[in-house]
Amino acid sequence: MASSYASESGQSRTNAPRLCYYGEKSPVKTSMTSGNMGRRFYGCARYGVDVTCGYFEWVDPPMCQRGRKVLPKMVAKMNRLEKELARSRRREKMFCKALFGT
Ligand SMILES: [Zn+2]
Repeated sequence: MASSYASESGQSRTNAPRLCYYGEKSPVKTSMTSGNMGRRFYGCARYGVDVTCGYFEWVDPPMCQRGRKVLPKMVAKMNRLEKELARSRRREKMFCKALFGT
């Protein structure tokens, strides 16, 4: 019985590792641009290390109009709240020092 797994060109199968044009395994990255925030994509294995081959493929389907509008605002709000939280924690520490003198 001949095995049909002999050929290694697994590019068509969705869970097979993607190979970039250098023939190296593409890492999955997450987009942080406002139009595609949080959307994952395959990029060149040498991105940030060497000259990339230009390989690029989305993992997730495009985001709906509503999500594209709302998500960047939510992220901005979260960042703002986190900063506020850090500030009030610092203030709390200062108050404790002033009140209890430790
Ligand atoms: Zn590459």
